[in-house]
Amino acid sequence: MSTSALKDSVLSHLKYSLGKDPEHATTYDWRVALSLAARDRIVDPWFESTRATYRADAKRVYYLSMEFLIGRLLEDALVNTGVYDDAKAVFDDLGLNFGEILHDEPDAALGNGGLGRLAACFLESLSTLGIPAMGYGIRYEHGLFRQRFEGGRQVEEAEDWLTQEHVWEFERPEAAFEIGFGGQVYENGGRAVWRPQEAVIAQAFDTPVVGWKGEWANTLRLWGALPKTVLDLQRFNAGDYAAAAEPEALARTISRVLYPDDTTEEGKHLRLKQEYFFTAASLRDLIRRFEAEHDDLRDLPKRVAIQLNDTHPAIAGPELVRILHDERGMEFETAMEIARGCLNYTNHTLLPEALERWSDGLMGYLLPRHLQLIERIDTAHQTQHPGIAIREHGEVKMGELSFIMANRVNGVSALHSDLMKVTVFKDLHDMHPDRIVNQTNGVTPRRWLRTCNPRLSGLITDAIGDGWIKDAERLSELEPHVNDAGFLDRFVQAKRENKVDLGQWIAESMGISVDPDAMFDVQIKRIHEYKRQHLNILETIALWQEMRDNPNGDWTPRVKIFGGKAAPGYVFAKEIIYLINSVASVINNDPVTSKWLKVVYPANYNVTLAERLIPAANLSEQISTAGKEASGTGNMKFALNGALTIGTLDGANVEIREHVGADNFFLFGMTAEEVMERRTVEGHAWDAISKDPRLARAVDALRNGTFAGGDHDRFRGIADNISGPDYFLVASDFSDYWRASREVDQAFRDTGHWARMAALNTARSGWFSSDRTIRSYASEIWDALPSKPLRNIAAE
Ligand SMILES: *Cc1c(COP(=O)(O)O)cnc(C)c1O
Repeated sequence: MSTSALKDSVLSHLKYSLGKDPEHATTYDWRVALSLAARDRIVDPWFESTRATYRADAKRVYYLSMEFLIGRLLEDALVNTGVYDDAKAVFDDLGLNFGEILHDEPDAALGNGGLGRLAACFLESLSTLGIPAMGYGIRYEHGLFRQRFEGGRQVEEAEDWLTQEHVWEFERPEAAFEIGFGGQVYENGGRAVWRPQEAVIAQAFDTPVVGWKGEWANTLRLWGALPKTVLDLQRFNAGDYAAAAEPEALARTISRVLYPDDTTEEGKHLRLKQEYFFTAASLRDLIRRFEAEHDDLRDLPKRVAIQLNDTHPAIAGPELVRILHDERGMEFETAMEIARGCLNYTNHTLLPEALERWSDGLMGYLLPRHLQLIERIDTAHQTQHPGIAIREHGEVKMGELSFIMANRVNGVSALHSDLMKVTVFKDLHDMHPDRIVNQTNGVTPRRWLRTCNPRLSGLITDAIGDGWIKDAERLSELEPHVNDAGFLDRFVQAKRENKVDLGQWIAESMGISVDPDAMFDVQIKRIHEYKRQHLNILETIALWQEMRDNPNGDWTPRVKIFGGKAAPGYVFAKEIIYLINSVASVINNDPVTSKWLKVVYPANYNVTLAERLIPAANLSEQISTAGKEASGTGNMKFALNGALTIGTLDGANVEIREHVGADNFFLFGMTAEEVMERRTVEGHAWDAISKDPRLARAVDALRNGTFAGGDHDRFRGIADNISGPDYFLVASDFSDYWRASREVDQAFRDTGHWARMAALNTARSGWFSSDRTIRSYASEIWDALPSKPLRNIAAE
């Protein structure tokens, strides 16, 4: 692939696809032209992958997920197809700013956080490994809301990524299915027949996802909802224009918005519709594909593995049984067996409030036949295994339903999988001791190191070659280099340059100046009580108070960086945001401490911002209450990029610490077991506060108006929570967090030693590649084999 061929392709798209003269082309035009040129290079391997899959009659993996947090696609596509340098040369040659063109792309935020990002990393790894797979989800018109701060408070705005043409997708009008809701169940010749009352059309939109070196591309197929009839012409002709447009508006609502939270009560009805809509369309699609090549549906489990990403697609169980039993006339037991042979379920949370339940009333109203089948599944299971019910207190428990319908159930870190067995699924695990397996999460090293951190990845490739990009465990070959002063110098230099870049961006976008030699201490993730951003900000307050007490002290300079959105209805999380911003505005304007301490909270945390912040981080904050974070994947991205972790023994932190070594990890806090015990201690928070004067003073600052212009009430809610119920044990973990933070300060001053620890984090984090996770799903859950790589574009 030569630079001039790419240039011709870009110019040709500019002219013939966009109808633009180069002289009048905008950044948008150039970006779209480049994207189309890049897309052209993916289409052939994409077709080839599909043909190879058909030829081999290979088993396919279907990943059903309500969310795909894919972020931008252009840079990833250029890197994976090996034309990044050519593209840069083309734009340098044209005298255009390449970085600006890449940054013009909207961030596709079709997910809330870790769960959706995991799905996106998995798709990329499935393609890199050459496993035939398809991601199925919803083509939301509006992804996750855009966050702004107004006077320090979060304001949500509609995300409108689809107002511009989404250049990566191909619309598939021929891949469309009618999806029904409501209505009645009739009997006809001993068979149940469901007659839905309303129906919409699910139409496919395909985005190719290309793997490393462009050798294989799988498909992300997102369903958009369309009306069956676009316009009610009778009403239109009668002059009732609003009513005439109703069917269209109603249908489109289904794929209009991503739910910003999976724990709210609002919009239950629509949410269940969304879940059934994309699950039913996906099942019909995969059965149609199967039947194009095979004639016996009993062979489905040999050719199809379906992964349910959380319980959102759990209706797949009863729906598959309904298709096989009601529509295809199979015995109920056979239908059950086949469905179970295909389905697997990933659990993502132990928080009871986040486990989905639907009322019988709603389920019976929207999906009357499914409710009957769930009852039957429940009865069948209880006959063999008395003591556990899918339906309870007038509700359907989707976790139990998923478990019972699944061949394999997995947790997402070793600790999480172990806890599942003794908490949420204890009874089911006792009945089915072989069903739960662990699959520790991972992240793709292409996006999360190779692409987002070109300086570090260049240095790594110089040292050990580029084999690590598709086999991240080869990062261990860096180990001998960490004793080489020259290598460490370059390692430190790469990190420093990333920090300078970030510092410039912070100065330009936020007007805050930060010192690139200060420690960049980063906590970026959804704002949630269990993730404990309030523990971090409390420590910040205490540190600031000590600095003011001792202005001649020899303090280690820190920039505390926060990022994250709160669900719009999550009042406490929004108060935490308000507090962080309020603390920032006081501390950043304090002339006494400003050379040591800054607090920076850029708005609208998303994949793009993560890609900007992580390469520049020295310290990664992973401080959730032990037992609450299922895995975390942010923690892995940081370690891979040479940041040290300060963290609790929670989720995958446990395994990160095992891999990077306890000496290269700052551990603090109670274990999951100690957490459960501590909660039973009456007045645990008050007890902790009375024993730690630093903590007492920091909490007091929330009450005395220090960060609220004298208003004593503004942060009373947070203060009362921390000193009262404190379910997430902020107070009880504070003293140890403080101790560990001061150890971090000390360690950071020994720059040579810190660099060595940081480099060891990179060298030992290869195991956290999502390639390793996917290989493990393939062998332990899906029984799916990688297909042979077809060709190598980069070598052509
Ligand atoms: C990786 C990632 C997450 C998950 O972060 P955690 O720290 O594991 O919660 C959330 N949002 C975005 C944008 C990410 O890239």
